[in-house]
Amino acid sequence: MLTDHFGRSIEYLRLSVTDRCDLRCAYCIPEGFKGFEEPAHWLGFDEIERLLGLFARLGLKRIRLTGGEPLLRRDITGLARRLAALPGIEDISLSTNATQLGRMAADLKAAGVSRLNVSLDSLDPATIARINGRPVLADVLAGLAAASAAGFAPIKLNMVVMEDNAREVDAMVDFCLEQGYVLRLIELMPMGDTARRMGYVDLQPIKRRLQRRFGLVDTLFPGGGPARYLGTADGRFSVGFITPLSQHFCATCNRVRLTVDGQLHLCLGQDARMDFRSLLRSGATDDDLVAAIQQAMALKPERHEFSEQPEKLLRFMSMTGG
Ligand code: SAM
Repeated sequence: MLTDHFGRSIEYLRLSVTDRCDLRCAYCIPEGFKGFEEPAHWLGFDEIERLLGLFARLGLKRIRLTGGEPLLRRDITGLARRLAALPGIEDISLSTNATQLGRMAADLKAAGVSRLNVSLDSLDPATIARINGRPVLADVLAGLAAASAAGFAPIKLNMVVMEDNAREVDAMVDFCLEQGYVLRLIELMPMGDTARRMGYVDLQPIKRRLQRRFGLVDTLFPGGGPARYLGTADGRFSVGFITPLSQHFCATCNRVRLTVDGQLHLCLGQDARMDFRSLLRSGATDDDLVAAIQQAMALKPERHEFSEQPEKLLRFMSMTGG
């Protein structure tokens, strides 16, 4: 069992398989960003499998593939298959912007990916072009259709809410009700200058308004993540609220993040980390790696400080893995 200093069990790892992306979401990888990681530093599949196999021996149960855009990493289905076969791993999920999902959904399902989260901040092409930097709505909708056809259910749709798209939340609720997607509304985190400039919106008033308009009640939804859910009484629709600022969930944080270059980050909003690339590439034995994993757990901070120190973090989300 992996446990940190605050008694939290760590059973969930988000693996960033690339820090590249085909979108330029203004709050994540702004247009013109050049600080991508050298390919020579990317962990190879053998390195990832070895390290996560050791994590699994210590109690890791769930892995989410993310990025950057994970579907841009060559042979991502091959990696998913290898990770799904690790003893102890019960669940492989994937976060994607869905631009490539149309041609990959069926292979991902066959490789053992069991759950999909798709990012979609708007249904309006003009808003998408402004926030996400590319005109991708048609590709994303095709990707969603392919995911349903491949048997992914439920599909969760992630919408980051900010000043630009806050008025579109109800339209997104209507769309998800109609299509049967689980909606998750996410508060903007102040990661990097451009994210700070996008205009944070507190989700609590939106939550109360949706509760009234759609007659929603508190709902439990499986997933193990930080979202708190409301749903219709007939169970037909659920909406999750991920509120790192207005109501943070650090006390129940069960996750760590491994970047494409092998840095294990213990908190999305703090600098604490352990360099596993150097260990893997300097002849560390399995026992050395197990000891390093256990030492890393002791570095996990109690909580992020997005509200107290919004200027603190220079890392964009794409660099850590969302
Ligand atoms: N490309 C994949 C995707 O679109 O889901 C995976 C990586 S992306 C970084 C993961 C999630 O992080 C997306 O839903 C994205 O909207 C969210 N994200 C990125 N920067 C954020 C920020 N500053 N605040 C809140 N969410 C953010």
